Amino acid sequence: MTTRTDDLAPGSRQRTVLAERAMLAKERAYAPYSGFRVGAALLATDGSITEGCNVENASYPAGMCAERGAISTAVARGVRDFVAIVIATDAEQPTPPCGICRQVMMEFAPRLEVISVTRGGADARWTMSDLLPAAFTPTSLGRR
Ligand SMILES: [Zn+2]
Repeated sequence: MTTRTDDLAPGSRQRTVLAERAMLAKERAYAPYSGFRVGAALLATDGSITEGCNVENASYPAGMCAERGAISTAVARGVRDFVAIVIATDAEQPTPPCGICRQVMMEFAPRLEVISVTRGGADARWTMSDLLPAAFTPTSLGRR
């Protein structure tokens, strides 16, 4: 599998695979409180795909988003360079990532392509600069 962002056009094989993997991850979501299931499939520059799903908790703030779950799992595997993330929900409209996830995405992938898909076939695509302009980054701390 290649990792060029122009391979992420609607209908492309890569985008289809990522959307399918995100939808499967959504099916494994643990969301007994909100009922709002989210899956994510994170594509790395090495071609690997890491899934995540939301994992809620009776202590609500202890819950974890699908996007951050995928990033944490990938980092634990030694993967830190990401190309794209596909987010899948059952919502009518494509769901953008929350603010905390945007910040975590920016840490590792300021040029990440963010795609959101729904079961009904709607989709949206954003860049990180769309989602988090004027971001606080490692550069803000004098790093990198
Ligand atoms: Zn989030």
